[in-house]
Amino acid sequence: MKLVFIKCTKCGKQFYCETLLTDNRFPLHCPGCGKYISYKEYQSQLQPISSTSVLTRIQKPISKETVGEILYIPSKE
Ligand SMILES: [Zn+2]
Repeated sequence: MKLVFIKCTKCGKQFYCETLLTDNRFPLHCPGCGKYISYKEYQSQLQPISSTSVLTRIQKPISKETVGEILYIPSKE
């Protein structure tokens, strides 16, 4: 799994997400302010980072408690 860091264009908070999302040009959802960030908006921020270096920067594993810190696409209800 590869991760990239994205800075929200609205609230400025930085999150990380899987490249699976960015590779498919999906809009990203900022859990900080609720904004949907389009591919055009975060395109310039994409920088490939090796999963090894990213994992050393992430203090906590991805879990229910930490998922709020990660950009994601909310499931449809
Ligand atoms: Zn935001």
